[in-house]
Amino acid sequence: MPMKKNVVVFNRLAPDLVERLAKHFNVVQLASAAELPDALAAGPVHGLIGAGWQLGRTQLAAATDLEVVSSISVGYDNYDLDYLNERGILLTNTPDVLTETTADLAMTLMLTAARRIVELDGWLRAGNWRAALGQDHFGCDVHGKTLGIIGLGNIGAAIARRGRFGFGMRVLYTSNNRKPELEQELGADFRDLDGLLGESDFVCVVVPLSERTHKLIGQRELGLMKSSAILVNVARGQVVDEVALVEALRERQIRAAGLDVYEQEPLSDSPLFGLNNLVCVPHIGSATHETRRAMAELAVQNLESALLGDPPLHMVNPQVKAG
Ligand code: NAP
Repeated sequence: MPMKKNVVVFNRLAPDLVERLAKHFNVVQLASAAELPDALAAGPVHGLIGAGWQLGRTQLAAATDLEVVSSISVGYDNYDLDYLNERGILLTNTPDVLTETTADLAMTLMLTAARRIVELDGWLRAGNWRAALGQDHFGCDVHGKTLGIIGLGNIGAAIARRGRFGFGMRVLYTSNNRKPELEQELGADFRDLDGLLGESDFVCVVVPLSERTHKLIGQRELGLMKSSAILVNVARGQVVDEVALVEALRERQIRAAGLDVYEQEPLSDSPLFGLNNLVCVPHIGSATHETRRAMAELAVQNLESALLGDPPLHMVNPQVKAG
């Protein structure tokens, strides 16, 4: 019988999935990134599975037998892809299964910011509701407005469908390439970034973080938005310049924002927290029981395939397998 390969689980994985992995592999679970050097020094590691850790040359140089990193996420900006390619290490991810859940959150942020739900919830609980509300407490409509999607990929299209078919919104989008099928399905119109920012009532950021999208939305771009517009970011925090956003919200250059992601995560204190026209949640785009389970199962399946010799369902850098 061939020797079992060794797998390190970083971050949490449900016990039954650890058991499933243990049928084929020797499995070690780590509680924190600080434990990784010891785990790698203890013997050859062939596979890593988890999410949320920065992994590149510094962390992985000692992992000389590493064949695959299976990420329980769709975004892979935590990983130094150039280094993984150089080393011939396969990276797998978990797209599709989180698309609808993340789109639900984007809609939630739009609605919550537009109707001032968090602010008015706090106001009510503080005992302020003593008479009929006046326009100082009114929000703005979502239905029938113009929704601008920056990055009409899987999640962007799912948000656009909600906007178009659920809320009768007009959809604008920008992405690397035109999407004729989605244009037809959604009646969506392509705009360059500046055009989209100027015309949209809701701007939803859903691009992957890359050198090209780092601080894609900064002071200039926020300045192009309507003063009545709402910005939602469910992509990555670094895509939006947070200092510029705080300023734009404070000065009411834009109406409001809804954020799931931040330049620094986790975030325990920030000038953002002082703004009542901001709704902020702690990176919960895919954080439902059903979806996190589906992501973990898919990541386990990707890892099993990679280490047992089948092509994984979702490879970020399939060329390393072909080479
Ligand atoms: P996807 O299907 O790959 O879609 C990404 C879209 O972004 C594509 O349409 C792409 O355009 C477009 N794009 C890339 N660079 C661009 C640029 N410079 N300007 C304009 N558009 C650009 O990915 P997805 O599954 O929708 O996920 C998108 C991102 O959301 C992920 O990378 C991840 O960072 C983030 N995310 C966050 C959460 C959360 O918990 N908040 C959950 C899941 C994902 P082309 O198709 O034309 O190349």
